[in-house]
Amino acid sequence: MTTSGVRVRIAPSPTGEPHVGTAYIALFNYLFAKKHGGEFILRIEDTDATRSTPEFETKVLDALKWCGLEWKEGPDIGGPYGPYRQSDRKSMYQPYAQELLDKGHAFRCFCTPERLEQMREAQRAAGKAPKYDGLCLTLTAEEVTSKMAAGESSVIRMKIPTEGSCDFTDGVYGEVSIPWDSVDMQVLIKGDGMPTYHMANVIDDHLMKITHVARGEEWLASVPKHILLYRYFGWEQPVFMHLSLMRNADKSKLSKRKNPTSISYYSALGYIPEALMNFLGLFFVQIAEGEELLTMDEFAGKFDPENLSKAGAIFDIQKLDWLNGRWIREKLSEEEFQQRVLTWAMENDRLHQGLKLSQSRISKLGELPDLMGFLLKSELNLDPSAFARIKSTPEELLEILNTVQPDLEKILEWNVESIEAELRAVADRMGKKLKVVVAPLFVAMSGSSRSLPLFDSMAILGRAVVRQRLKLAAQTVASLVGPKN
Ligand code: GLU
Repeated sequence: MTTSGVRVRIAPSPTGEPHVGTAYIALFNYLFAKKHGGEFILRIEDTDATRSTPEFETKVLDALKWCGLEWKEGPDIGGPYGPYRQSDRKSMYQPYAQELLDKGHAFRCFCTPERLEQMREAQRAAGKAPKYDGLCLTLTAEEVTSKMAAGESSVIRMKIPTEGSCDFTDGVYGEVSIPWDSVDMQVLIKGDGMPTYHMANVIDDHLMKITHVARGEEWLASVPKHILLYRYFGWEQPVFMHLSLMRNADKSKLSKRKNPTSISYYSALGYIPEALMNFLGLFFVQIAEGEELLTMDEFAGKFDPENLSKAGAIFDIQKLDWLNGRWIREKLSEEEFQQRVLTWAMENDRLHQGLKLSQSRISKLGELPDLMGFLLKSELNLDPSAFARIKSTPEELLEILNTVQPDLEKILEWNVESIEAELRAVADRMGKKLKVVVAPLFVAMSGSSRSLPLFDSMAILGRAVVRQRLKLAAQTVASLVGPKN
């Protein structure tokens, strides 16, 4: 039982690799619960059925566990307010949508995607922000009934006040005022009956008795919709806290195109979770110089949610490296260190898989570090000459690397078969033989053209490491491309 009644949550959408930004928000919530003797729970928000996958869900859960951010309730362990996965709660949302329709707070909208696109197009052309124009608000009850009877597809939208503003106090931003006329008549239930994020999020936070909603600042503009839903239902709203996003050193939004953002990437490279949490935790406490090395318990003691800066959390890899080095050297005992190394080498079964692939390719065990070391290395020293030995020109190599990269992003389930299928499709599309396409990839992944089978190696390395190595390879090859005249 909580002593304070405080209940907070992390609510990831399993639509991609587990993001360090998720760990950052999760850590805030975790520390908040710890400080108040409350509970921290995990809910999976997979209302976007086309982008959510079981693989990503498992990875998010594993990554947050790896971080040491344990939850009291969640899809893996259950709890009193389950299920904790929105797709398993689908049938719970419909009655609430009906309630809003009955009370006149929501309406059915039959507009086709084509009409909505034309409407937005016209609004953009007139220099206005795209927003639903309310056409279906004018339908009579009889018109709605007959359209429904005729089987016309519809969504349910919420009504929005036409005047005034939504004023609220954000735990981080302070007083916020957002004019209602800038708020869209949000779709609550989609054509397929699935709720949208906004609908499911508010209902679940209420049913799961969440008292404080701490999340990224990208959701600040959605608060009016959420507050309105709480009012429509007559529910008490939670306290909102919107944290500034993590940014690259140049202040741009942290994105995988610039820096690796996947927690799996950092664990694969041998960052230790305490150091990553230490790095993220420093965004939430005020400390004097020299006090940087802190454990989770120490953070909970120092945690001060009232005193966060809005300046933004800079993802400074050098600082993370520095903290990681200090954790390894100063905080781990000899036994702990050795244990960590073994666990790390075994991550994703990569040591076993690597050995399995290597056995038929060596005559002495001592050849193993050279043959399979690339599966464990944090950095490959890519030598441009390894690419120069491939028959294709540097321009062709660059084209291959740049074509493969975005194509691999489309793979939903990352495994040997899907990687092979995608690379074959790329080769077909480019009108090249598969062996021509894979030649630079061998070097990109392992640093050498003689190494373990490519598709298996890529599967073992994982998406995030593969993405980073392709990027490095493209940079290396670009250095071989002569200056254009
Ligand atoms: N599913 C949302 C996300 O992944 C959660 C936002 C929220 O915490 O309300 O960003």
